[in-house]
Amino acid sequence: MATKYIFVTGGVASSLGKGIICASLGRLLIARGLRVTVQKLDPYINVDPGTMNPYEHGEVYVTDDGAETDLDLGHYERFLGIKTSQTNNVTTGRVYFDVIRKERQGAYLGKTVQVIPHITDEIKSHVLALGNSGEYDVVITEIGGTVGDIEGLPYIEAMRQLRYDVGRKNTLSIHLTLVPYLAAAGELKTKPTQHSVKTLSESGLSPDIIVCRSEYPLDSGIRRKIAQFCNVDIEDVIASLDAESIYEVPLLMQQEGLDSRVIEKLNLPAKNADLENWNAFIQKIKNPAGTVKIALVGKYVEHHDAYKSIVEALIHGGAMNDVKVNIRWIQSDELTLDNVKDKLLGCSGVLVAPGFGDRGIDGKVGAVQYVRTRNIPFLGICLGMQCAVIEFARNCAGMEGANSTEFDKSTPWPVIDYMPDQSEVLDKGGTMRLGKYSCSLERNSNAFKAYQSDHINERHRHRFELNNDLRNQLTEKGLKITGVNPERDLVEIIEIESHPWFVGVQFHPELKSTVNEPHPLFVSFVKAAVVYGEAAGSLIPEGIKKEIV
Ligand code: GLN
Repeated sequence: MATKYIFVTGGVASSLGKGIICASLGRLLIARGLRVTVQKLDPYINVDPGTMNPYEHGEVYVTDDGAETDLDLGHYERFLGIKTSQTNNVTTGRVYFDVIRKERQGAYLGKTVQVIPHITDEIKSHVLALGNSGEYDVVITEIGGTVGDIEGLPYIEAMRQLRYDVGRKNTLSIHLTLVPYLAAAGELKTKPTQHSVKTLSESGLSPDIIVCRSEYPLDSGIRRKIAQFCNVDIEDVIASLDAESIYEVPLLMQQEGLDSRVIEKLNLPAKNADLENWNAFIQKIKNPAGTVKIALVGKYVEHHDAYKSIVEALIHGGAMNDVKVNIRWIQSDELTLDNVKDKLLGCSGVLVAPGFGDRGIDGKVGAVQYVRTRNIPFLGICLGMQCAVIEFARNCAGMEGANSTEFDKSTPWPVIDYMPDQSEVLDKGGTMRLGKYSCSLERNSNAFKAYQSDHINERHRHRFELNNDLRNQLTEKGLKITGVNPERDLVEIIEIESHPWFVGVQFHPELKSTVNEPHPLFVSFVKAAVVYGEAAGSLIPEGIKKEIV
């Protein structure tokens, strides 16, 4: 069967949840036995989002092969249970970078290099790279931004051309719009959708299916109007109402018939949907047997998107423990040794988040000190792990003034320092230790208990690491190294023996947690928090209680 291509564009407003719609459609098609991947094309000029501020862009999602990508790729992996790669996220910056490099090499010798055909050809080659790999029946391509954006035009044109290149019957155009409710008029308005479809059609890419985000159900009159004025069948007007949880969106889309319409239009050989696991997961998150409060200490907490994968991994970990995780967001630069007790009061676990730069470091180190000395379950991720090492060095190993050279170049105890190959690096883009690295686990550890495996692979994004020159001085005082990268002897996991659950990881476990495979460290961390909460007097579900006894 020829690979089918689905192009998803958005109109009227940004932030309508195109990524979730793509991920949901992907999930539904996989549930029907098809091999699917999702790709995002981003029209901005950065080569990747790696150099952007989290306020600007949210989390940078890292793939196994070390691509720094848009956070939507996290949704694709979590929903579809697939691994994405460099090819799954392409930006205008990347496209131009490659075209200009080829021009310098003489690849277009004799030609004037232009947006059409050179840029559009380059864009198409990224879509076809996935399709031609032979690994997928369906490639879903999400185009970032909103229809009408100047920078998005080459992408729309590339998709228009692709429809003819691979055959119209092998492609489908889905457009996501907003159908707003005007309180003054007391009705839903279709005009923005009509305009959006008109703009898209002017570029030669008319939609086959329109997905309408709306706060209220679309009655048949509204659906008919959209169908009539946007040249689609009424069954191809799909309502997407606000959902309590993003994980319900696939089910809502199934009820609206999105997958059936896609399958029919693309003539896909599909079986009945198997969503048993998915439904079980929804039941768990909708009917938890208890709750547990976990503090998330970070410097971008006003902007939850900066910690997207952590939040989702906590939801997955909670579901596996039959509890709902309530996150208390704690701004690290407002945390001091004086107020840490009040700020963390009632929390049964503390997660210190990844990050860059020295703002809020004292607060993070203070939070670690508090949880270490009170046996509160702790998960430190990347910078969070580094803060745990700094705290331990200062307060348990007698290393006064210990620090990371990221924050203090002349510290007497550089317990966290540049990796050997990082200190000479001047360029900022794509130069960190990125992507999948292996790690060997120490058997007698909480990490091993969680993973139940001697060897694991996790994803990285950092320049600094635990300084091997000071490693023995730390371990002599009780810091336990329970995970090491065997190839380069880099410390990957630290723990504290005398503490019930104190785990710092140099990698990013959150990036690999999916609905079907919640991450073992998060499952274990939430469980430890539940146990702590129980001891501290809060209610926990019966099943877990039995397990503890
Ligand atoms: N800033 C630290 C480093 O570069 C930690 C990075 C992170 O938390 N992702 O090593």
